[in-house]
Amino acid sequence: MTFTVLVNAGPWLNVPPQGYGGLENVVATLVPELRRRGVRVVLATVAGSTLAADETLVTFAQPRFADLTRPYNTVAGIAHAHMAQVVARLRTGDIDLVHDHLEVVGPALLAALRAGAPGDTAPPALHTLHWDPERARPFYESFDGGGGVWFNAVSQAQLDRAPARLRSQALGAVPLSAPVPADPPLPMTGREPYVLLLGRITALKGQDVAARVCRRAGVPLVLAGPVASATTAEELATGLADGSLVGNRDVDYWCDEVAPLVDDRAVRWVGAVGGAAKADLLARARALILPIQWEEPGATVVAEAFAVGTPVVGTPRGCLPSLVEPGATGRLAADEDGLVAALRDLDSLDPERCRRTALERFSPARMAEQYLSLYDEVLRRAGGGRRPPSG
Ligand code: UDP
Repeated sequence: MTFTVLVNAGPWLNVPPQGYGGLENVVATLVPELRRRGVRVVLATVAGSTLAADETLVTFAQPRFADLTRPYNTVAGIAHAHMAQVVARLRTGDIDLVHDHLEVVGPALLAALRAGAPGDTAPPALHTLHWDPERARPFYESFDGGGGVWFNAVSQAQLDRAPARLRSQALGAVPLSAPVPADPPLPMTGREPYVLLLGRITALKGQDVAARVCRRAGVPLVLAGPVASATTAEELATGLADGSLVGNRDVDYWCDEVAPLVDDRAVRWVGAVGGAAKADLLARARALILPIQWEEPGATVVAEAFAVGTPVVGTPRGCLPSLVEPGATGRLAADEDGLVAALRDLDSLDPERCRRTALERFSPARMAEQYLSLYDEVLRRAGGGRRPPSG
C-alpha cells in the first residue's frame, strides 16, 4: 500500500484559492510536491477546488469563508460538519497520517478519536498552526494530543508566543513557500517605480502606515487586496450602499484610515488581484512593503515576493526578522521615519539574492522535504505505522 496522507484543508475556501487564502495556498503548493514524491493524498476540501489529488472529499458545495464572521453556532456548525466527513473517511483504515489545517476543531476531534476504545484508533496527525496561537489560547493551554496529535508552526516567532503546553507538542517550524519561476528576476533598474502592499486591507497589515511613509519618501504605492469581502471598488460601494458591509472592522479601517490617503496617483488601490495580474504586479515592484502591526506568524507574500526577486521592506515584527536579511533581501525598521529611510534606499537591494533565498529556503520542494520529515517524526513518536518516503 502506498503511504497515504489525508490533507484537511477545511471548509472555508477553494484549493487553490482564487485570490486570498493563506492555509489553502500552503495546501495547494504542498500536495503536488507530496504526490511527486510518491505520497497518496486524500484532500478534504469544498466543492469547486481544482487541486489534483488521488481522492477528494467534499462536505460543502460552496466555500464558507463569508460565514466566518457569523455567530459561533454557524461557524462551529460548519467546522464540525466538515470534520464529521473527515472522521467518517478515517474509519476506512487506509490513511497513514492526517495533515490537518482546521484550527481547534481539527486537533480536538483527531485527538478524541485516538483516545477511544482499544482498536478504535485514528491515524496520528500533524496540525499546522496558521494563526497567532493567542487567538485560541484557552484551547492550546489545556489541549493534550496524547502523543498522537502534533503541531508545527510556520515560523519560530509564532511558536515563541505560544502557551508552553502547545510548545511542548510542537515539532518545529516550516516556513511558507511559493513556486519559483524559471526566469531570472527583473533587475532593480528594470522595475517600475512603485512599491506594493499585497494583502487583506486590515489594520494589522498597516496599509495606512504604508500610505504615509510612501508619500513621505516620494515612492508611489500600489495597494492590492480585498476590503472584507469586497474585491473591487464597485463591490465596496455596493456593500456600503446596501448595508451588508457596514460595521465591518476592516471596512471601517479602510474608510477612516486608508481611503483618505488614496488619490489614485501617489497611492492607488487596485482591489484584490490574482493569477497573472498579481504575478506581474509583484515582479515589477521595486519592493513589497509590509509595515505589519502585529506578530504576523507566516507571511506567504514574502516567499511570493522573493520568488520573483522582489525585496521586502517592513517592520521587524512576528516572522519578518527570520525571513528578511537586512541590506540584501530587504530592510526592516520599527517606526515610520525608519521606513521612509528604507524606501529611499532600495537600489542596493539584490533581486538575484532574493530569488536564491526563495530557492534555498522557501521553495515548494524545500517545504515538502521538511513536511515529510515531520510526518516521519510524528509516526515515530506515535509509535509505528508505515513511514513516508524520504524527501
Ligand atoms: N493575496 C492575493 N490577492 C490579494 C491579496 C492577497 O492573492 O489581492 C494572497 C497573497 O498573495 C498571499 C495570501 O493572499 O498568498 C495572503 O497570505 P499571507 O500569509 O501573506 O497573509 P494572511 O492574510 O494569511 O495573514
